[in-house]
Amino acid sequence: MRNGEELPLEMHKVKIVQRIDLKPVEHRLQAIDEAGNNTFLLRNRDVFLDMLTDSGVNAMSNLQQSAMLTADDCYAGSESFYRLEAELKKVFNKKYFLPAHQGRACEHLISRVLVKPGSIVPMNYHFTTTKAHIRLQGGDILEIPIDEAYKIESDCLFKGNIDIDKLHEAFEQYGDRIPFVRLEAGTNLIGGQPISLQNIKDVKAVCKSHGVPLVLDTSLMQDNLYFMKTREESCKDMTILEICNEAAAHVDLIYFSARKFGCAKGGGMCMSDEKLFEALREIVPLFEGFLTYGGMSDKEMEAIAVGVRDVLDFDVISQGPQFIKYMVSELRKAGVPVVTPAGGLGCHLDAKQFLSHLGCEYFQSASLSSALYIVSGVRGMERGTMAEERNPDGSEHYSPVELLRLALPRRVFTMSQIKYAVDRITWLYENRHLVGGLKWKEEPRILRFFFGKLEPVDDWQRKLADRFLQDFPNGY
Ligand SMILES: *Cc1c(COP(=O)(O)O)cnc(C)c1O
Repeated sequence: MRNGEELPLEMHKVKIVQRIDLKPVEHRLQAIDEAGNNTFLLRNRDVFLDMLTDSGVNAMSNLQQSAMLTADDCYAGSESFYRLEAELKKVFNKKYFLPAHQGRACEHLISRVLVKPGSIVPMNYHFTTTKAHIRLQGGDILEIPIDEAYKIESDCLFKGNIDIDKLHEAFEQYGDRIPFVRLEAGTNLIGGQPISLQNIKDVKAVCKSHGVPLVLDTSLMQDNLYFMKTREESCKDMTILEICNEAAAHVDLIYFSARKFGCAKGGGMCMSDEKLFEALREIVPLFEGFLTYGGMSDKEMEAIAVGVRDVLDFDVISQGPQFIKYMVSELRKAGVPVVTPAGGLGCHLDAKQFLSHLGCEYFQSASLSSALYIVSGVRGMERGTMAEERNPDGSEHYSPVELLRLALPRRVFTMSQIKYAVDRITWLYENRHLVGGLKWKEEPRILRFFFGKLEPVDDWQRKLADRFLQDFPNGY
């Protein structure tokens, strides 16, 4: 802009809209109480801006929607499957594709085939369902990102990279117990931080020397491709397709959630190794569905086929990271602690600093998530201790980072909605001393963040709402 403001421009226009409501603070206070202070348990009708996740809620393009009408609906041998398979071959250049109904289904199948009791899977960082499936098979994970990954404020461009020295040490220590190494591009739980193409190559070299496959989770690859292109010197002159092909060439097994990568609903695995393909193929019909749909509808497969092609368009993949960067920089101007550099997926508030007057035993990130909903109607997702599992001895496992993730599903929100969110977050930051802690009310045994319930330690939520009403007397 002429005034020097950096404003990301939308390279799309809105053609179909959904009405949303902004309910007053009294209503929100009651809704969050009924939801046990868990934003997963809110009803969407009570939410103004849904920043819970980018999963299955990215905007679809007109081309995706029109492709859905061409779906070849049948049980076996659908043309929709073959169209999807052909697109994935272009993007990842692997010989085989196996469908699954979503990302975690791939994790289930891969863990079943490759993980044994006692297995250790080194990775840059875990995703909740990844860890749960590896543990379900009796294995465990070993997180070895570079040290910079845990620094909230940083200027490291690839905080998602694996520490290669630690990977060497892992092989020395665990040897045969390592069935594969897993990389997530980009990382989900540590702020959507990307990995570099160089890191993928370096990790592959180590895997190769030990004869172990490298598995790449590309659920968040579209943001990661944007960061490789804009932050990595060697990628500057490559097309997005070339970068994607090059990354894929160094890994043995790719899997993804098409709820993110593909902007529709589904998932799948791509590989060239015949033995691995046969082992996985055997269990796809058992758990997912026949080999030419794997739990997906034919319509969704058509939409994914177009969606993965869209990922090769630089303008399309720029929107998410650029909006996130805008939100992060506006919040920083107001002094709000956020993860930097801005990553993919969403904007991440650092609940540890935001609520530094609370100890981690009070679930800082869940408290912040509850407080933000009360004062704005914005629904974020707790990414901290609640998203962890207890230690084997039953003690609480405190997450090294306590983040409130505000996902920006791709091409969904407008600039004024982002500005509204920034305004209310800033208000909350100025009144942060009013935010109190939460404690368990109902704690499920696995993936407890999905339906666990928390309750406030005192009446801080009422006081926060009263303070809000002083500044916004009509309750909005
Ligand atoms: C979302 C996600 C998954 C799981 O995918 P679902 O489709 O939600 O099952 C796995 N890995 C990463 C990195 C993700 O972001």
